[in-house]
Order: sequence, then C-alpha cells, then structure tokens
Amino acid sequence: MLNCKEITEIASDYLDNNLDWRKRFSVRFHLFICEHCNRFVKHLELTIGAMRKKPRQSATEEEIRHIISNIPRQDES
Ligand SMILES: [Zn+2]
Repeated sequence: MLNCKEITEIASDYLDNNLDWRKRFSVRFHLFICEHCNRFVKHLELTIGAMRKKPRQSATEEEIRHIISNIPRQDES
C-alpha cells in the first residue's frame, strides 16, 4: 500500500504514464480513498497541463491548417 508521501513522490510519473500497471493501480486506489492526494494529483495535473500548453501555442491554428493542407493525400488516386 502506498502512503501519501509516496503518492506525492510518484505523482508526476503517474500522470506521465511512467508507472507499471501495479503501481498505477495502487496510486488509483489511494486516490480513491484519499481526498488529500486526490486533490494534490488533480492540481498537479492542471499545473503540468498548463506548462505543456505553452510551447504548443507557438504554432497557431492557421499554421497547423497550412501544414495539414500541405500533407500529400494518399487516398486520392
Ligand atoms: Zn494520500
């Protein structure tokens, strides 16, 4: 059984899918029974999500559409 300290230590690995299924299961179970860690992981997830969104904003929607329109379509023959 994981304790709260262990959860906080592996929380980012959990969110990154870097844990094997046994550990993931242990984390999920702990989050299910522990409101404190549940909130901690949710907050961490939001923080990581916010950090990861920034670099993606360097490509605008217009640029992405431009790139997609330049990909040769294979289904047209
Ligand atoms: Zn806990």
